[in-house]
Amino acid sequence: MLLQQLFEPLSSTYTYLLADPIGGVAALVDPVLETVDRDLALLQALGLRLTHTIETHVHADHLTSARKLRHLTGARVVAPALDALPCADIGVRDGETLQLGTIAIVPRFTPGHTDTHHAYVIAGGMVPCVLTGDALLIDGCGRTDFQGGDARTLYRSITQVLFALPPDTLVYPGHDYQGRRVSTIAQERDRNPRLAGKDEDAFVEIMAALQLPYPRKMPYAVPGNRMCGECPPDVPDELRSPCELGDQG
Ligand code: FE
Repeated sequence: MLLQQLFEPLSSTYTYLLADPIGGVAALVDPVLETVDRDLALLQALGLRLTHTIETHVHADHLTSARKLRHLTGARVVAPALDALPCADIGVRDGETLQLGTIAIVPRFTPGHTDTHHAYVIAGGMVPCVLTGDALLIDGCGRTDFQGGDARTLYRSITQVLFALPPDTLVYPGHDYQGRRVSTIAQERDRNPRLAGKDEDAFVEIMAALQLPYPRKMPYAVPGNRMCGECPPDVPDELRSPCELGDQG
């Protein structure tokens, strides 16, 4: 199994290339529109065929490249079934394994950042790992103040679903804003400042006090991602550049 962590600096997003090198098949988890060319070049360099793009949730801070990658490579667009995206090819549900060659990708329903968010547990490597999307970040977690987010729900997703994974499971987050790349379930359980030693009420209090600014791209990123990464017509000029990478498929 091959797992490569890729970074998109404008939104501090981690995209994950997951591949079965024997079968020559690959998936991109949470791919970003701005980095399509980089991702295609990487696939080509590794001799891999992109068969799936997989979303953890409908993002508010960037546009997915799922639609464009489908157009360019034929990769099927995978998203949580609960999102009911008409543009998706495959809707995944909690516990229903998606097979990528010999790699089993197990979706885990982890709402709270959004109400339909899924993390993906990957089996088949030397060490178990989980792509946590924006449910659990390193020393942090996704915000809970829009898109059906709810701090109580997120606390339960993290403590009951993610912290129930084996403690040595590697945690690969959907974002990091300080250059951190990987953690473990044990590390997050034991020292994540929002969670370690915190009960549900304390967590809710921490989340309510964050007062984060609204994501600049949210007004078009959410509707655009509900179309699997097509720019809506009302994108402001100064934010249009990723929309003009050519054919949107
Ligand atoms: Fe998010």
